[in-house]
Amino acid sequence: MAKLKRKPPGERITCITYPEPGAMGETGKWRIFRPVVDREKCNKCQICWMYCPDAVITLDEEGIPKMDLVYCKGCLICEQVCPAKAITRIRETEAKE
Ligand code: SF4
Ligand code: SF4
Repeated sequence: MAKLKRKPPGERITCITYPEPGAMGETGKWRIFRPVVDREKCNKCQICWMYCPDAVITLDEEGIPKMDLVYCKGCLICEQVCPAKAITRIRETEAKE
């Protein structure tokens, strides 16, 4: 059985598997777009958390989702499923400027 390389963050509520490096390393290194949550628009429905295929979304102390950018691959499924349109995207190049 594969050993977990990372301990789950204390605030994680539940998931089936924890993100860990794959064949291409940490997915965050090759992400083109990063999801950004608008805290004002978020209604805390947790749908993004439920749909994230990589289980990299946790909830902060206020119940707002936050993405683990080390492993978020930027697929933007979270952006697509958010009913409140609270998730938008920015280019990684812009985020690093
Ligand atoms: S972009 Fe994809 S991997 Fe990243 S948090 Fe959203 S659904 Fe998860
Ligand atoms: S799906 Fe949208 S509204 Fe629901 S918790 Fe995620 S960011 Fe907030």
